[in-house]
Amino acid sequence: MIERAKQGVKLRIVQKFGGSSVADAESIKRVARRVVNTKQEGHEVVVVISAMGDTTDELTDLALQVSKDPRPRELDMLLTAGERMSAALLAMAINDLGFDARSFTGSQAGVITTEAHGDARIIDITPGRITSALEDEDIVIVAGFQGVSQTTKDVTTLGRGASDTTAVALAAALKAHHCEIYTDVDGVFTADPRIVPGARHIPEIGYEEMLEMAASGAKVLHLRCVEYARRERVPVHVRSSFSDKPGTWVMDQKEDHMEKPLISAVAHDRSEAKITIVGVPDTVGSAAAIFDTIAEADINIDMIVQNVSTDRPGVTDISFTCPQANVAQAVEALEEAKEKIGFTKVVSNEEIGKVSVIGVGMRTHPGVTAKFFGALAAAGINIEMISTSEIRISVGVAAKDVDRAVRAAHTAFGLDSDEEATVYAGTGR
Ligand code: ASP
Ligand code: MG
Repeated sequence: MIERAKQGVKLRIVQKFGGSSVADAESIKRVARRVVNTKQEGHEVVVVISAMGDTTDELTDLALQVSKDPRPRELDMLLTAGERMSAALLAMAINDLGFDARSFTGSQAGVITTEAHGDARIIDITPGRITSALEDEDIVIVAGFQGVSQTTKDVTTLGRGASDTTAVALAAALKAHHCEIYTDVDGVFTADPRIVPGARHIPEIGYEEMLEMAASGAKVLHLRCVEYARRERVPVHVRSSFSDKPGTWVMDQKEDHMEKPLISAVAHDRSEAKITIVGVPDTVGSAAAIFDTIAEADINIDMIVQNVSTDRPGVTDISFTCPQANVAQAVEALEEAKEKIGFTKVVSNEEIGKVSVIGVGMRTHPGVTAKFFGALAAAGINIEMISTSEIRISVGVAAKDVDRAVRAAHTAFGLDSDEEATVYAGTGR
């Protein structure tokens, strides 16, 4: 891949730079030089850009100072301005280096979405203006994280962190050779280097594992971006905008996993909360009634445990996890259904975290669970919940135990390296 890109063949490349890579004027100029380098190597370059630094958060705060409950349409109008600013600024910086660059909003770039403000999905991309700018030999800059609704024609945003998705979707629509996602770390690591200093760099990883990692809290790539990349088979190169080191290629993997470690990575997530419904009648249909209630409130659940109480016959406790942001809503919905379902009470706990081990190797190797749980036991960590997929085992633990659990698993599966991973800036978003 990388070799091919160096042999003087003209490639179409989409590059995405995140907020921490364009935090101020100096960094915008640095990104401009990087983009120009790629152009000078003879490639066609399309850049997708995020809002500067914490702009999206700041704009959201501002909205909340002006209005208790800003309308989603206006919030999207406001938030999309963040990406528009950095796109225009980057184009100016590139122009100053003597190159032609043109910036476009998501709407101008042809990013057509659903009408769900704040969480719109890309339906189609009609990149006519981009391809004609590329034909003019221009460098194209596209404001990430935004599009335009097919039905209402209003400006939409694609959800927090979704510039990654814009980049991959554009790469697919433009039939780009690959998509480069520039971030503040040198790619994907076997664990968050902020927690495990000896986390290893992963040179290449398949879509399946990357998808599980993103879903398990690894923040390096946005979940929907990985889903998109897998569906459209877009090779993604995740790398640092602060160094020239090769990053991580997320791409189709050959079946040959001979030298692959059993576990590829340990991920963690602190964004969930646990809800426990106490005293649920142990009868047919109780669980269905509970999760119907949650589904109707449009809340995604993750891990579930049910415990039949031995000293209180006929009743059980059911716990599940959901995003912290949805706790109040979930509790309210359950309280309303309390009489109908017949449970005693509902309690919530936000002091929990999830730790996951991920690896395609576990499909064919027994004993992964035993090793993982053994490592947690040795570290004195209590497992509160469990969930698994074919290539992932996740546990819910107390929030205070998350870091230690990640380190224990990382060591147990032989992933520790002596070298310290570099963290350049930001929070890994
Ligand atoms: N600026 C947006 C956000 O912070 C989109 C992105 O950075 O990908 O969520
Ligand atoms: Mg991001």
